[in-house]
Amino acid sequence: MKSEPYEKEKKVECQSCQDKGIRFDGIRNGAEYWSDCECKAIRRIKRLMKSSQLSDEFLSKSFENYRNWAGDERLDELWKTARKYAFDFENMRKLEEGNSIGFAGEVGIGKTHLGCAVANELMKQGVQVVYFNFVNGFKEMFSQYDNGGLQVQKIRETLQKCEVLFIDDIGKGRVNPQIGVPDITRGVHDEMYGLIEHRYFNRLPIIWTSEYELELITMLGEATASRLMEMSGKNLVKVFYEEGETVGELNYRLRHHFVGV
Ligand SMILES: [Zn+2]
Repeated sequence: MKSEPYEKEKKVECQSCQDKGIRFDGIRNGAEYWSDCECKAIRRIKRLMKSSQLSDEFLSKSFENYRNWAGDERLDELWKTARKYAFDFENMRKLEEGNSIGFAGEVGIGKTHLGCAVANELMKQGVQVVYFNFVNGFKEMFSQYDNGGLQVQKIRETLQKCEVLFIDDIGKGRVNPQIGVPDITRGVHDEMYGLIEHRYFNRLPIIWTSEYELELITMLGEATASRLMEMSGKNLVKVFYEEGETVGELNYRLRHHFVGV
């Protein structure tokens, strides 16, 4: 008979409560007193991070490690608006206009970084955030049709009902030269309509990024785009090149080229 392997000792993570989540505070007047242990909140944050769909790289993005390497004032504004939204979220989420935040602007200015910084801060506050990449997310979603509609419906419901949804890179795709913006397929168009409509009427916040702003009307339709704008209110921050500016100047991936840092 083979000997049993040593039973692995289960590691206790919290010494304070032995992972029970509650702590005995003592007896007063014959009654037992218990209180929540601090580790309960920490465990909730860990669970939120795990289920957020954010990669480890994205989970590491914060307001502190965002760099305005171009020294451009507009990027400071971007950072400030994002930070204010995140730290004032409990009030922001109640706003009729502006319960959401949108980053519209050029490639490489750190839109995704700041979206992640907002998401990470919200999770620290115990808020559920689900990350959804516009391109890969829909690709993944539609690939599930082969496994029956049930899986698609599950993804759809998560996106519609989660506390905060982070949609990254709305409208990303190969530009159709005839219309000057990427083509959006009927399927994506309709999903976006249903998704934004549901979150709009249920007052559920969205964090979003896009290289486009008004072009979103052409791409997603006026109903969807205007709701997204309205939900973002004053928290819609835009950074686009103005006349006379060199394209690429604000792109951190080209920073060595422009300022030699
Ligand atoms: Zn504990």
